[in-house]
Amino acid sequence: MKQELAITLNDKYKEGIKAGYPLLTKDSLEDSSQLTTEGAILKLEDRQGRFVAKGYYGNQNKGIGWVLTRDETEEINQAFFERRLTRALRHRAGMFDDPETTAFRMFNGEGDGIGGVIIDYYDGFFLISWYSEGVYQFKEQLVAALQNIAEFRGIYEKKRFDTKGQYIEDDDFVTGERGEFPLIVKENGVNYAVYLNDGAMTGIFLDQREVRQAIKENYAAGKTVLNTFSYTGAFSVAAAMGGASKTTSVDLAKRSSAKTIEQFSVNAIDYESQDILVMDVFNYFKYAKRKELKFDVVILDPPSFARSKKYTFSTSKDYTNLMKEAIAITEDKGIIVASTNSASFGMKKFKVFIDKAFKDLGRKYSIVEERSLPADFRVDPKFAEGNYLKVLFVKLGERI
Ligand code: SAH
Repeated sequence: MKQELAITLNDKYKEGIKAGYPLLTKDSLEDSSQLTTEGAILKLEDRQGRFVAKGYYGNQNKGIGWVLTRDETEEINQAFFERRLTRALRHRAGMFDDPETTAFRMFNGEGDGIGGVIIDYYDGFFLISWYSEGVYQFKEQLVAALQNIAEFRGIYEKKRFDTKGQYIEDDDFVTGERGEFPLIVKENGVNYAVYLNDGAMTGIFLDQREVRQAIKENYAAGKTVLNTFSYTGAFSVAAAMGGASKTTSVDLAKRSSAKTIEQFSVNAIDYESQDILVMDVFNYFKYAKRKELKFDVVILDPPSFARSKKYTFSTSKDYTNLMKEAIAITEDKGIIVASTNSASFGMKKFKVFIDKAFKDLGRKYSIVEERSLPADFRVDPKFAEGNYLKVLFVKLGERI
């Protein structure tokens, strides 16, 4: 059994932790200098030495560890991981049997009771993402637990904990059988090519599944669709499968073009009938305005922060401007799908950013649909930051 390190909680944070807040920060401890070994089990106590919770030490950009249990008698061992994983599987019951959707989140960090680690399922393969050196110390126990309770062909991993909290390049294969990549997964009947052993990204962001489905089913038929910050073009593929008359994908990354061609091709869509552009979105907006291009549907899904040669984009500062650029090239009564994965503000503030864009331009609008994380991305109700995804389907109204 692992040694437990008794550590005193700061009085101000004690009640919050007791009530269910799962994240440990430097401030929440009286003396964080006691923390030396990542992966140490922490026995969190109040000033009187009374037990509050057990957690682990692991440095992430968000904090320095996570609460694991509020039951003093619960040991952190393989059986603990089996219980947490079993509970997580129960919440995804049925998803493993759906032939139309073969990729989803099986374990969502603190939402499933263990912060710092997530597990995605890709058609027979598990992909474990570790967000700290500390949580990585539980690899043997967690992998053994997964082997005991779930069926799979193979396991891969992403170590997302270099000094900047980024991915560490490695052979990401863990155990079982090696996959052949691209692995073709399905999502609501649409194919996506994914790679589990080729850098930090797999080729698809699973949290947008319901947004892709909504675009495909309700917004794409017969429409021209502009997909900005398009990455592998997943939204473009969904739109094309939904009958879009044409899609235009714009991303700065050189690789995005080949990746997007591949996603169209695995769905037997002729990529030559689509536009795939490697360019800065902000330059594209200028170009489109000059050419007086207009689209029926514009998708905005920028990273929370991005720096290109000419522009720096930070969601909380620049979303209103981004939205204005989009409005300028959207048809009257067209739809803008405005998305953000920034955890630093909630839906209310996001709506303020959108509202300001329309006010500045003297335009009316209505929000016709709102989306957040799908159910497999379980959220801890005590940890609102975990509910990061915000998507608004905005319909352009008349000029005031
Ligand atoms: N919408 C995508 C995910 C976007 S990830 C999807 O659903 O799959 C963010 C993408 O933005 C990255 O591919 C990155 O290359 C791109 N990007 C960042 N800054 C950009 C800019 N200024 N212009 C164009 N693309 C940019």
